[in-house]
Amino acid sequence: MAPSQSLIQIIKQFDRAMRDCFDKNQPNKRMSRFKKKGVKDSFLFPQCISVEGNCMKFPKLGWVKFRKSRDLEGKLKSATVSRNGKHWFVSILCEIDVPEPIHTSSSAVGIDRGVAIMAACSDGQTYIVAKAFKKYEKKLARAGRLLARKVKFSNNWNKQKEKIQTIHAKIANIRKDALHKASTDISKNHAMIVMEKLGVSRISKSAKGNSEKHGSNVKSKAGLNKSILDAGWSMFAAMLEYKQRWHGGMVEYIPAAYTSQRCHKCQHTEKANRVSQSKFKCQQCGHSANTDQNAALNILAAGHAVLACGVDAIATTMKQEPLTA
Ligand SMILES: [Zn+2]
Repeated sequence: MAPSQSLIQIIKQFDRAMRDCFDKNQPNKRMSRFKKKGVKDSFLFPQCISVEGNCMKFPKLGWVKFRKSRDLEGKLKSATVSRNGKHWFVSILCEIDVPEPIHTSSSAVGIDRGVAIMAACSDGQTYIVAKAFKKYEKKLARAGRLLARKVKFSNNWNKQKEKIQTIHAKIANIRKDALHKASTDISKNHAMIVMEKLGVSRISKSAKGNSEKHGSNVKSKAGLNKSILDAGWSMFAAMLEYKQRWHGGMVEYIPAAYTSQRCHKCQHTEKANRVSQSKFKCQQCGHSANTDQNAALNILAAGHAVLACGVDAIATTMKQEPLTA
């Protein structure tokens, strides 16, 4: 028997999903679909939970032992139980009063997000995300082939399926760990973080196309998409945003245009400035630097411009057409 609270919670979530789906202000929202059993299994207890030591009380389930990873503060609001691979997790929402934080640093940094180097900072620091997916791709493919050879829904099929889910969870954990380390480091050291606005969701969608019109360059785009998703840009941005909120800092987004082609020293913008994937050499003043580093400095400068003159200023300086030699 399921606890009534959790069922009510699902109806509430469904209500919200349907409202969002028909909301004209949220064009990206889609009709909700049935959840597949075994994929993102989770449920929520909105109240009547209590914790004592390393035991937790749930309605109907009673006392359940768990490994407490950190101490709980304040008032317990709700608990979400979820499954990742073969492990069950509980995340507990607590309410605490926090004074408005003030960032200890006053520096600003521009970040160029890339595929090869996940984040290049304007202060010269670079962060590379472990290409977890690439390393485990072979393992995953092999496990997938073994699954295909087994009788569907048999015991051995179920066992193999669990193995695949474990590999997926492993990849996600490695990636998340690297992103957390990088975002914590950057957020601690800089009060203002400037990044390019990237249409990650739009890029990822275009390769698939739709039923009437197939996406163009499906293969090349799919490769790029995989790398983009692999680097987890949107997850990285979200982490930076909430960590800056904790520390009392801010995140600024600037429109992406010519940041990798413009010379940071003399503002000369030309395609030829970018000699190769990693090398930048200005055709006018001869300033040479690392491409990502140069772009990060441009992003930082654009961020300062936005703060000083508002968004309009940036539109005129950034949308400049590249000069042809
Ligand atoms: Zn130059």
